[in-house]
Amino acid sequence: MTVGVVVVGALLCSTAAIASRTHEDRTTDVRRAVEGGTAKNVIMFLGDGMGDSEITIARNYAVGAAGRLNMDSLPLTGAYTTYAVKKGTLSVPDYVTDSAASGTGWATGRKTYNNAVSVDPVTLAPLRTLLENAQAAGYRTGNVSTAELTDATPAVLDSHVSARACQGPADMAQCPSEPKQAGGLGSIAEQTVDHNVDVLLGGGKARFAQLVTGGPYAGQSVTAQATAQGYNVITDQAGLTAAQPGTKVLGLFSGGNMDLEWTGPLAAPYPGPAATGCTQSNPARPASQPHLSDMTAKAIELLSTKVKGDKRKGFYLQVEGASIDKQDHAANPCGQIGETVEFDRSIKVALEWVKKNPDTLIVVTGDHGHTSQIIEAQSATDHSPGSIATLITADGEPMVINYATNLPGKSMSHTGTQIRVAAQGPQAANVVGITDQTELNHTIARALGLE
Ligand SMILES: [Zn+2]
Repeated sequence: MTVGVVVVGALLCSTAAIASRTHEDRTTDVRRAVEGGTAKNVIMFLGDGMGDSEITIARNYAVGAAGRLNMDSLPLTGAYTTYAVKKGTLSVPDYVTDSAASGTGWATGRKTYNNAVSVDPVTLAPLRTLLENAQAAGYRTGNVSTAELTDATPAVLDSHVSARACQGPADMAQCPSEPKQAGGLGSIAEQTVDHNVDVLLGGGKARFAQLVTGGPYAGQSVTAQATAQGYNVITDQAGLTAAQPGTKVLGLFSGGNMDLEWTGPLAAPYPGPAATGCTQSNPARPASQPHLSDMTAKAIELLSTKVKGDKRKGFYLQVEGASIDKQDHAANPCGQIGETVEFDRSIKVALEWVKKNPDTLIVVTGDHGHTSQIIEAQSATDHSPGSIATLITADGEPMVINYATNLPGKSMSHTGTQIRVAAQGPQAANVVGITDQTELNHTIARALGLE
């Protein structure tokens, strides 16, 4: 049924009856996939800046136009709107969201302004998050990202600040009333540790090395604060492999964002770089740095293993592929595709695990649209005014990718389009149709029995 499809490694999804491309009537399969009730576990995968275009580019490149990614196999799919609101208002739309406002949408069920991390857009008061409610209801929690753990998407679950730049205690210039000595909750790094999340894995070591300026840990680094609060702080794959369930883990695998998976030419004005394939490795990436799929597998292991004396019932885990967005900003198609492919491998890890743990809701979505577009062949007289790159895909055919939301060489812009949201497991049917991202908050909350 998939004759002629180029298969690259284990990427191509092999099971998932509903996603199969036969011509059968799928009504019964879809009906079977609709489950209400509650889940023991929820795993949410978030591709930052991963719109339909980014998914299609990665699919074409990695498995060919007729191939399917792991994320394509989830049985129930819809789209959601992601707009932010203007600061000081509850409902005046800001059509293009950033990751902070977008993340606040599913983390709290409320719209806020671009730059805000889980605070009210009018009063700036903290908004209660899914992670906080899950903890209170007796779930283990995990937060995994390829970005700094203090970046907006991980931060929306375990922090509340009026400006996303307030990542470490030395970064508080935009939040003068929020350091602990001013009576605030402190920087995102401090709040992340204060929140007692069981598994924290990502980049951002330098933020956690900053010295705390107020409260009981003043004068110590945030890393020292984490150790004092019972965290096993690890910095490489060996530490990740050795980590045992029953102890909270703070994994900081890079000074800043984690290193890219793939390399290749940046897009440039017509005619762009010569048509090529991507290099599916990055010499700058240390071998000791885990991949997102490694972190996902370990997070699931740590959160799902029964520990004597721990009566908590299940877990809530968020996994972010962060640099899809960052490389879209940089007009770096191979960087962007490599991050999407590794994100998809992480989804495969979870899909394999849920075969034996079906009482799990899995959600795969993005937080906002982005720049990259697949466009027609270019010529000297008809071409994009932006930057282009031509990649030879798994089909052996050229794919022209265009970046034109800013001038060549400058940081490309997010876009305001609706975003795919796909799911399987209890409550997954609630992603079907056109929803708003704030609805996802309630879908996950219902799955966890929180509402
Ligand atoms: Zn971005």
